[in-house]
Amino acid sequence: MSTVAESPFPWLEAPAKGLYREFEAGSLGHAPLLHGPKGIGKLTLSHALAETILCHSPLPASGGACGQCSACQLMAGGTHPDFFQVARAEDAKDITVDQVRELIDKVALTPAMGAHRVAVIESAELMNENAANALLKTLEEPPDNVWLIVVSHAPGRLPPTIWSRCQKVGVPLPDPKQARDWLDQAGAAFEPAHRELALTMSSGAPCLALAYLEAGLIETANEIWDTLSAIAQGQGIPPQLSEQWSENAQATWTCLAHWVCQLATGHVSIVHQPDAIHASEARRSPDWSELWNQALEGLALVGSGVRHDLLIGRWLLAWEDRCQQAA
Ligand SMILES: [Zn+2]
Repeated sequence: MSTVAESPFPWLEAPAKGLYREFEAGSLGHAPLLHGPKGIGKLTLSHALAETILCHSPLPASGGACGQCSACQLMAGGTHPDFFQVARAEDAKDITVDQVRELIDKVALTPAMGAHRVAVIESAELMNENAANALLKTLEEPPDNVWLIVVSHAPGRLPPTIWSRCQKVGVPLPDPKQARDWLDQAGAAFEPAHRELALTMSSGAPCLALAYLEAGLIETANEIWDTLSAIAQGQGIPPQLSEQWSENAQATWTCLAHWVCQLATGHVSIVHQPDAIHASEARRSPDWSELWNQALEGLALVGSGVRHDLLIGRWLLAWEDRCQQAA
């Protein structure tokens, strides 16, 4: 994504144009905080903004980066010497102070090519306390030529000191039709029913829905629902199930949270033998929200080193217990 017209995500055109316009007018803060739901393309938007800031001849009328100049070509190739990005390392639980210090040291140097240096902090809510404090010093006195683009889908988890020093830029979900149209094209290789389920599971965030499809999460979700239904029908919890499900705890918790939410809102129902438990009865039960909360807590603990097999085992017992009560 360089120019507004080339945006792969049509719903980002308006926020992108707004950011380019502010940069062009000199009113863009040195630390824009792009926040909004997970899986809508905020990181892509941050790169497009960085490209526009670094471009040698941005298009007129806030059209964004030219896509042609040497700076744009280096950005496209991922080798621009004045662009930096930090994210949580794959096996780490947070963004560390060393990562942030290294980033700040790099952006503080004189630009190698043009007038600016740009850094993107991906999923900034994952910064630990020391990392956030290190960033804060730069946010308080940003060098003139430095832009720190902060990206977060959970800005409530950022320290208030960071939040208050950034220029807030809310990135909204696309409307449902736009999301569906985009996923129909981008995810054309997948079954329509799977695309629909992926969009529901991602709460309408199209990029996250596509990631779910590509990761095979929809098949996993359907398998998990079949297993949950069997347990609900009194077939017992299969041995080794919690160990097996903990191998991809993120996927498991995502699916469990999804199905309990669907159950609580009456979009699915569990069927007992021989009597059916209908959604209207399920809605009266307060226990679904407890199971839902436990699934969200499990999801939040992914990467923290806890024993997910134990947590999933406990969740399954609660599920079985709840279903027996309902029978
Ligand atoms: Zn350019």
